[in-house]
Amino acid sequence: MTKYKLEYLWLDGYSPVQGLRGKTQIKEFAEYPTLEQLPLWGFDGSSTMQAEGSNSDCVLKPVRHFFDATRENGILVMCEVMMPDGVTPHPTNARATILDDDGAWFGFEQEYFFYKDGRPLGFPTTGYPAPQGPYYCGVGYAASGSVARKIVEEHLNLCLAAGINHEGINAEVAKGQWEFQIFGKGSKKAADEMWVARYILQRLCESYEIDIEYHCKPLGDTDWNGSGMHANFSTEHLRTVGGKEYFEALMAAFEKNLMDHIAVYGPDNDKRLTGKHETAPWNKFSYGVADRGASIRVPHSFVKNDYKGYLEDRRPNSQGDPYAIASQILKTISEVPAQKAAAAA
Ligand code: ADP
Ligand code: MN
Ligand code: MN
Ligand code: MN
Repeated sequence: MTKYKLEYLWLDGYSPVQGLRGKTQIKEFAEYPTLEQLPLWGFDGSSTMQAEGSNSDCVLKPVRHFFDATRENGILVMCEVMMPDGVTPHPTNARATILDDDGAWFGFEQEYFFYKDGRPLGFPTTGYPAPQGPYYCGVGYAASGSVARKIVEEHLNLCLAAGINHEGINAEVAKGQWEFQIFGKGSKKAADEMWVARYILQRLCESYEIDIEYHCKPLGDTDWNGSGMHANFSTEHLRTVGGKEYFEALMAAFEKNLMDHIAVYGPDNDKRLTGKHETAPWNKFSYGVADRGASIRVPHSFVKNDYKGYLEDRRPNSQGDPYAIASQILKTISEVPAQKAAAAA
C-alpha cells in the first residue's frame, strides 16, 4: 500500500471572479488510484462564500485527477462543488451546467501578467520600462528579464507531467506578460485542465514571491496590453458538415445572445474590448475572416474548407471561468437547429 497525497481543488464562491482553493487528504491505495476510487470530501463553505455558518458543509466531488510532480505520491484532484446532499450542484458550480458533448473541442489561450510588489515583473519602481515592441516572443534579458522564463518553463514541465494538454507558450506584448494554450477534446476537458494549470502556476509562483495578475486590463487606460483568454471552439457538426448557411445561423445566435456571453467572459471587459488595439467593442457583435478586430475570428482555412473547422471567440478575458465560457458557447450552439438535428441523428 502507498500513502497518496490527494490535493482536492475547487472553485470558491467569490464574485465576480471565483478563486482556487485546495486542501490535502492522505489516502492509502495499492496502486495509483482511478477517479472512481477517490472519495467525496467535505469543506466549510462558510469560509469560501458558499454556505451560511449554521449549515456550512459543502461536498467536493472529484471529476478529474492529475499527477502532481511537485510532491512524492502527489495527485491533484479537480472537484465540482455539490450541495450538502452530495448530488445537487452548488450554484457556484458552472462545470455542472456544461452540455455533455464528446465532439466539442476547446482551445483556450490564457494570457496573464507576473506581478511583483504591485507591478508587472520587470517594471521599474516608478514609471515604465521601454514601450511595447520587443517583448512579444522576445529574447534576451532586456526583453524577458531573468526569472519569468524560468517559471514559465517549470510550469510547462509540471503541466506536461500532469498530463495537461499544453499546446504552446509565448511571451506576450507587454513586459511581464505571457501566454499558454491548452486544447482538449470533450466539452469539459480543456476547461478542467485550464483550472488545474492556473493552480499549478499560482502555487509555483509562491516560492518566487510573485503573483499572477489575471485582470484583463491591469495597467488601466494606457497603451499597455490587456489580457484575454481567446476561446477556440468546434463541434462535430462544425468540423464535418459546416456550410455557409449553418455558419450564418450560428453567428446570428451569437449576436442574439451577446449579453449572455459578455456576462461570463470575465469582468471589466469594457476596459479591454474598446474597439482599439485588435479588439472589437464589447457591446457590438461582429465576425470576420482572419479579422483580429472582430468578436469572432473566422480562420481562412474555415472558409476555404466550405465553412468547416473551428472558430475563435476573441472576447473571453484572462479572468473568465473556462467552465462558464464553454457552457455558454455550447448553449448558444445548441439553439441552432442544424446542430440539434445532427446531435439527434
Ligand atoms: P493565435 O494566438 O494566433 O490566436 P494560438 O496558437 O495561440 O493562436 O491558439 C490557437 C488555439 O486554437 C489553440 O489552443 C488550438 O488548440 C485551438 N484549436 C485549433 N484547432 C481547433 C479545433 N478544431 N477546435 C477547437 N480549437 C482548436
Ligand atoms: Mn495565442
Ligand atoms: Mn495572445
Ligand atoms: Mn488567439
